[in-house]
Amino acid sequence: MAAVAAWAGVGSLPALARSPRMPVLFLGHGSPMNAIGDNAFRRSWQALGAEFGTTWARPQLILCISAHWITRGWYLTGKAQPKTIHDFGGFPQELFDQQYPAPGAPAKAREIAAGVAQPKLKLDEGEWGYDHGTWSVLKPMFPQADIPVLQLSLDYDRPPQEHFALGRQLKALRDRGVLIVGSGNIVHNLRASRRDANAMQAYPWAFEFDAKTKALLEQGKLAELADFQKLGPLAQQAHPTHDHYLPLLHAAGAADPGEKVRFLNERYQSASIAMRSVVWG
Ligand code: ZN
Repeated sequence: MAAVAAWAGVGSLPALARSPRMPVLFLGHGSPMNAIGDNAFRRSWQALGAEFGTTWARPQLILCISAHWITRGWYLTGKAQPKTIHDFGGFPQELFDQQYPAPGAPAKAREIAAGVAQPKLKLDEGEWGYDHGTWSVLKPMFPQADIPVLQLSLDYDRPPQEHFALGRQLKALRDRGVLIVGSGNIVHNLRASRRDANAMQAYPWAFEFDAKTKALLEQGKLAELADFQKLGPLAQQAHPTHDHYLPLLHAAGAADPGEKVRFLNERYQSASIAMRSVVWG
């Protein structure tokens, strides 16, 4: 009930029509190179995108929480035509040539910001656009780039539980045609990465953290995901910084504990990145 009460604006979202309930996604994005060329991850995102129109209705709006936009305070992209950001280095020109020209949705962003009681969401009118956490997964899913997209930033200094709580408030948007997508990785330790590893190989600690997370997801113990730091050294190995884990908490907060859950891409990249992705609904 608390989450419903906190969503003060749910009855007044004129820019967002009521809809059948949207699923919630958490997508492990891994290397930016997964966005181009033929690979198993990209194929799975393409197949997932094709389910909109069959399994689910087409979204009116996509709200993406990317691991790659960290701010002080919380922001929603507020521009009408956000730019594509190539926030990486050392990759082929083809990756820098990628564009994702999906429109923004300033009016919808203002309504959503007004509807969230706590924390206060502000609109970013200039700095940000679509970083690769967003476009590397959305481009394979929705290649026509004709569905408006908002990005929500991460206030990294706030405790994980607040990220989960914000996700709970966003849950109401699922009945307004909004597809909530968290984009990060369930295990993400670039310092330990090994280029010679194949997709089924990972460090023991990477397997263990991934397995513990999977168990909580299967058991619907979603709030417990926010307590991952209790795992101590295991959590530290899986996430030397936990920016790639936080989008999972937003997505899990927007899901219901008893909701049907399934997994995609149950494999690894460079032995230290879990690509496990989660579909609720
Ligand atoms: Zn990333």
